Amino acid sequence: MRLQQQVMRVIGRWRGAGRTRPRQATDLDAVVAHYAIGAVLCTDQGVIRAANHHFETLTGFSRDELVDLPAPVLRSGLYNSSLLDGVLSGVAQHGFWQGRLYSRHKSGRLLAEHLTICRYQGDEPLLLSLVGVSHQEAVSAAVEQQGVRMLDPLTGLLDRPGFYAELEQCCSHGMPFGLLSLDLKNFCQINTQFDHHTGDVLLQQLADRLRLLVGSRELIGRVGGDGFALLLPGLSDELQLEEWAQQVLRELHRAFDVGPRKLRLSGTLAGALWPRDGEDHHQLLRHADVALFEARRQLRDYFCFSSQMLERIAHRERMQKELMAAISGDAIELAYQPIWDNRLGRVAKLEALARWTHPEWGVISPVEFIPLAEQSGLIQALGEKLLARACQDLKRLQAAGYDWLQISINRSTLEFNTLNPDGCDWLDVIHDHGLSPSAFIFEITESIFMDGHEDHLQRIRALRAAGSMIAIDDFGTGFSALNYLRLYPMDLVKIDRSFVQQIPGNIQDRLLLKGLIDIVHNLGMQLVVEGIEREEQQAFICSQDCAYTQGYLFSKPLAWPDLMSYLQHHLAATQRDAARVGSPILAI
Ligand code: C2E
Ligand code: MG
Ligand code: MG
Repeated sequence: MRLQQQVMRVIGRWRGAGRTRPRQATDLDAVVAHYAIGAVLCTDQGVIRAANHHFETLTGFSRDELVDLPAPVLRSGLYNSSLLDGVLSGVAQHGFWQGRLYSRHKSGRLLAEHLTICRYQGDEPLLLSLVGVSHQEAVSAAVEQQGVRMLDPLTGLLDRPGFYAELEQCCSHGMPFGLLSLDLKNFCQINTQFDHHTGDVLLQQLADRLRLLVGSRELIGRVGGDGFALLLPGLSDELQLEEWAQQVLRELHRAFDVGPRKLRLSGTLAGALWPRDGEDHHQLLRHADVALFEARRQLRDYFCFSSQMLERIAHRERMQKELMAAISGDAIELAYQPIWDNRLGRVAKLEALARWTHPEWGVISPVEFIPLAEQSGLIQALGEKLLARACQDLKRLQAAGYDWLQISINRSTLEFNTLNPDGCDWLDVIHDHGLSPSAFIFEITESIFMDGHEDHLQRIRALRAAGSMIAIDDFGTGFSALNYLRLYPMDLVKIDRSFVQQIPGNIQDRLLLKGLIDIVHNLGMQLVVEGIEREEQQAFICSQDCAYTQGYLFSKPLAWPDLMSYLQHHLAATQRDAARVGSPILAI
């Protein structure tokens, strides 16, 4: 603010003076004239008193547009008042200040100035500022000297070492700036779907768009195959950084013309602010990576780093450790939710649902810890233990006389994707317990099929050939659900509870559910409607001749002892009332 006021005051004075006559050469002009690089003399407030010809060429401003005005670097809008304070204290402490600052050329494009500033002892105390060649020239010179080491040959942007060196420089100045890190989504698919040339052209076009947006190639790096990073001098505010991020995303999402094709890209962006978000450039980069990881994890386009993010990550890391201990210590239990056979009037299947009760945090939902297990590579170990536990429980159930019961066990996408194509990882566990695979239903979700991988079909065939059933869980919540029924052989469809919530009141939901039930039955598959909570929902489903229902109306998921009393109670009731088929006995 103070700097802006000073600038306005000086501009006002300059205008007020009504200067129309060309300036006369002064002694100060003679001082700067003999330097072979840009040289200016200015006051402690940064107002230029004299500038040489090289400085004019460098900045695009004539001497008349420079003298008696704040230096272009102060007018660029990139720095706040702390810039002058930093320079003056450097000069006072060491006798000179050296560093790189960004300024604007008269044309508006960004210009990296290498500056050396020291005191000039003349009639009046002034600062002499020597301005080196623009950074681009420096880069080109470095490239000539060292071979192509600082520029990425494909895009002409800085390469990773070049960008990191630039970042380090900027951090050493102590001036605020923003860092944006861009990671393209599924870029390797472009290379495989089309060819590498198409991928290259896309990257070049994107680089051009970023360059136009930022105004300078010196501030953009291609820091990975499909990763870019942008340095935005003068930014000190999250909102400003977000505005930049939105502009970058807009450029990214605009269609690219590659030959006859129009292609689209998408990506994830992360932001961090210097000096707020790091103690050095390494930490700043790490924190930008943290924000990128969080954005990807939460399927967001953009995230700016915050210290709360670190707290959440620390908590998640601790949770990961605890989860690992819970898995190896067999502390993850199974609860069973009955699936009712409405035709036979008895429990037909039990859905096995994972339960984690932490001594300090209490009950943690599988919705929270299953994705955590996936992210930390623990899901296979957890899945195997849970399957083994389900096998032991099924043996106990069979021994207690419940030999018709099937266990329906959930398998997450990653678990299914990493199962060997012949399914032996799971089938072996079942066989090892002396059980038949036909007593098991594997519940998978539609998201498994999103990548259209051939192996899925093999896995499904192998498990079915062994006698197990494959169920599609939460049916209707993803995209193209019906299409998957056409493409993949399934035995059972579990209709998501969102379809029954408004039943029977909502006529549209009623028609939709009726249609789904008809389709699934006509395809010869079994159908379970999930999330039945009220009598009228159950009555409607039964009126549609739907055999299987599951929900709190019958029972919540039950721990082992409760499951046994539930089954005993219902077995006795069913035997007592064998004639009343189709009206389940409700939970106690
Ligand atoms: P899901 O497979 O769709 O399981 C049904 C979820 O709905 C269960 O939540 C169950 O408690 C809840 N539910 C059942 N009936 C009703 C009802 O009438 N009303 C309402 N509001 N909810 C009902 P839960 O146990 O919290 O499990 C959530 C999800 O976590 C499961 O959804 C499943 O996708 C996943 N999950 C649970 N256990 C495992 C597991 O062992 N492995 C894997 N990979 N995923 C699991
Ligand atoms: Mg399920
Ligand atoms: Mg479900």
